[in-house]
Amino acid sequence: MQPRRVVLALSLALVCSACGRSAAPESPAGASPLHVSRMAMGTLVQITAEAERPALEAAFAEIERLEALLSEWRAESEISRLNRAAGGAFLRVSPETEEVLRLSRDFAQETRGAFDPTVLPLVRLYGFLGGPERVPEPAEVEAALAKVGWRAIEVEKGRARLARAGAEIGLGAIAKGYIADRALAVLLGQGARRALVNAGGDIACFSRAGPGFSIEIEEPGKPGAPLAELRVRSGGIATSAATYRSFERGGERYHHVIDPHTGRPARGNRSATAVAPTAARADALATAFLVQGDAARRQVEALPDVEAILVGPGGERWASRGLEDAVVWRDGPSEPTLPEGKRDQEQEGRVEQD
Ligand code: AMP
Ligand code: MG
Repeated sequence: MQPRRVVLALSLALVCSACGRSAAPESPAGASPLHVSRMAMGTLVQITAEAERPALEAAFAEIERLEALLSEWRAESEISRLNRAAGGAFLRVSPETEEVLRLSRDFAQETRGAFDPTVLPLVRLYGFLGGPERVPEPAEVEAALAKVGWRAIEVEKGRARLARAGAEIGLGAIAKGYIADRALAVLLGQGARRALVNAGGDIACFSRAGPGFSIEIEEPGKPGAPLAELRVRSGGIATSAATYRSFERGGERYHHVIDPHTGRPARGNRSATAVAPTAARADALATAFLVQGDAARRQVEALPDVEAILVGPGGERWASRGLEDAVVWRDGPSEPTLPEGKRDQEQEGRVEQD
C-alpha cells in the first residue's frame, strides 16, 4: 500500500514530543531543512535534517531494523529471545544488541542500579506492559523484586545471556535514545550537515555550524506549558517524567518508572532532563535521575560530561551549573495548548508526514 503523504504548513516553530517539546532548527539563510514524522518505537519519531530525502528514509529504515532487534514488546526480537532463555546458555546476538547491553550494564553500575533494565517484571506487575493497570500486593512486589538485578545480564563478544531464571530485560529506558543516536549516524553518514532525531522526547542532534538547536522542555503534567528552553549544538537530550504514563488509585498516582530498590514507582523527581554526549546516555541517566531524587543533583555535578534540568517532587526547578548559559526558564504556556493529536504535527515550514 502506498503511504499517504500529507504536506502541512503550520505556523508554530516547534516539534512536539511526549514531554520534551523539542527542536526549532534555526537554519542559515538558503538552507531548508526537511522534516519527516512517523510512528515508531511506540511513539512519534521526528527527523529534521538538512539532507536529501533518501537520507531520512535510510534513517527511518535503521530505526525499524533496530526496533525489531531490541524491543521487548516484539516476541521475535533478540531481547525477547534472551528473556525466554533466562537462566540458560549464552545466545548469539547482533553487534547492536551487544553494544546496548554493555551500555546498559555500565549505566546501571554508574547509577548504582537506579537505572536497571531488568526491572521489567515490576513494570509488568503495575500493568505498564500492555496489561490492565493495577496496584500489586506487597508480596507480589517482593516476588518480582527477587527477579530484578542488572548483574544477571552477561555479555561476551557476540553473545549474551541472563544468568538468572525469571530475569527479564526491558530496554524502554534506553533504546529510544540508542536508536536515535544510530539514526543520526545514518543521516550524517549520508551527508547531512545538521540533523535532529526526536524519538518521543529522546533527542540526538548534530549541527556542524550555525546556532544549533533550541529544545523546549515541558512542565511535567502540563502539555503545552514550557518549563525551559535549552540551546544545544550536538549530543543527546532526554526527558523522563513521572507523568508520561500513570494511573490513579485511592488518591495516589502510580507511574511507569520504578525504583528498582523498592519496587514502587519512583518518588525522587517529577521530571528529569539529561544532556549528555549521546542520546543513549542521556536517556538512561534521565530515567535514573527520576529515581534518585536529590542524589541526582550530586551525581550530575560529579559527572563532567552530563548536565541536567530537574523538577523535584514539590515542583522545585533545578539546573546544573554547566547549563547556566544554555537554559532559559519559561513560565506558563506561551501559546494555546492544542488538542492531542494535533500537537505532534505542529511545525514551521514544511512537514511531510507519511
Ligand atoms: P524513560 O521514559 O526513558 O524513563 O523509560 C521508562 C521505561 O523504562 C518504563 O516504561 C519501563 O519500561 C522502563 N523502566 C521503568 N523503570 C526503570 C528503571 N528504574 N530503570 C530502567 N528502566 C526502567
Ligand atoms: Mg530513559
